[in-house]
Amino acid sequence: LAPQKSTYDVIVIGAGIQGSFTAYHLAQRHKDTLLLEQFLLPHSRGSSHGQSRIIRSAYPQEYYSRMMPDCFRLWQQLEAETGTTLYRQTGLLVLGPPGEPELEACRRSLGVDEVLDAAALSRRFPGFRLQAGQVAVLDSTAGVLFADRALRAVQEVFRRHGGTLRDGEKVLSIQPGATVTVTTTAGVYKAPRLIITAGAWTGAFVEQLGLRLPLQPLRIDVCYWREKQPGSAGLGSVSPCFLTLGLSQAPHGIYGLPSIEYPGLMKVCHHHGSPTDPEKRDQIPSSTPRPDIAVLSSFISSYLPGLETQPAVMETCLYTNTPDEDFILDRHPKFSNIVIGAGFSGHGFKLAPVVGKLLCELSLGEEPSYNMAHFAITRFPGVLGAAQ
Ligand SMILES: Cc1cc2nc3c(=O)[nH]c(=O)nc-3n(C[C@H](O)[C@H](O)[C@H](O)COP(=O)(O)OP(=O)(O)OC[C@H]3O[C@@H](n4cnc5c(N)ncnc54)[C@H](O)[C@@H]3O)c2cc1C
Repeated sequence: LAPQKSTYDVIVIGAGIQGSFTAYHLAQRHKDTLLLEQFLLPHSRGSSHGQSRIIRSAYPQEYYSRMMPDCFRLWQQLEAETGTTLYRQTGLLVLGPPGEPELEACRRSLGVDEVLDAAALSRRFPGFRLQAGQVAVLDSTAGVLFADRALRAVQEVFRRHGGTLRDGEKVLSIQPGATVTVTTTAGVYKAPRLIITAGAWTGAFVEQLGLRLPLQPLRIDVCYWREKQPGSAGLGSVSPCFLTLGLSQAPHGIYGLPSIEYPGLMKVCHHHGSPTDPEKRDQIPSSTPRPDIAVLSSFISSYLPGLETQPAVMETCLYTNTPDEDFILDRHPKFSNIVIGAGFSGHGFKLAPVVGKLLCELSLGEEPSYNMAHFAITRFPGVLGAAQ
């Protein structure tokens, strides 16, 4: 056996969608890159697994909507590079009360928009109902990304460009310095640059680097709902995606996608979950009340009456939320050759091509392509804990 190579230009920890896209950009820039993943791939223990994620142009915050044309372009580029279909255009409805500030901001982000009242919505999309006075904004650019397939595709291109992906290899410790030393369950690696994209594990993991990031892992119930009469309500596989804003019964929002994973079952989830530890997410007694399911059942009976009101399939996934639900994309305040990408707060998948580009630029000491003020670590007080 050839001795294992141990020195790289850049090491990336965590092969979810963010770490994989970061490694993809680095390899395309001819950086000798090592991507480390604790689990054997593919796995379903993090945040990037499953078949579907929403991609949309409509965003309440213009610092995300401005990134979306670049994201759509980079997703298309990945489709072309791998000859795979990664995206299905379905359109997306943003449902809520007219004048609601985030809904209005979504409208503005679209430039050309289409606003439907309750009658117009049920004519155009017969499976959907609105309450009196509510409206739906249509983002016709939006659709579904095939998540598992996308993760495989980005890792495949990374490898094709000479990148090294080592899975089933957990990083145990990091020694900062001009050369960073990374010790895993299988070896010791060195590089002048390190990027940490460890998803829900990031908060605990960066404590060894003297950082206390306000990252809260949440366990999300991923629920799939059966059509009462298959194919009869304009739901199922022909439905647009949707999300709600400003509904009093679901202040965190509810979103849905057409049936992709399971024939005839729509994915409808609460954009919120229960605080958890990524190592303990399955340790929930069966008697624990599930308030999310009650919120979803009540929403479905009013807004999607063609679906049964109890989920047919339930899975789990993890969000990693920051207090303001904006991402963390920044250098370590003390060790500038260590870059962190975390806190994707349940909306990071669609943006991964640009997140990867920004983390790559930060790591290489380049001027980032977008304004990074909203993503700075230092927007949170007290992040520098025990001095190193
Ligand atoms: C139910 C659900 C629905 C969602 N819907 C959408 C949507 O519609 N649209 C959208 O844009 N976003 C959506 N998201 C959010 C999106 O999926 C996440 O933001 C994104 O997947 C986060 O990717 P990540 O790479 O940061 O995390 P992960 O995928 O969790 O990757 C982190 C990786 O790091 C690895 N790791 C951790 N510690 C170590 C270690 N010590 N050594 C080695 N490896 C390590 C982990 O094993 C993991 O594989 C959704 C998320 C969920 C859960």
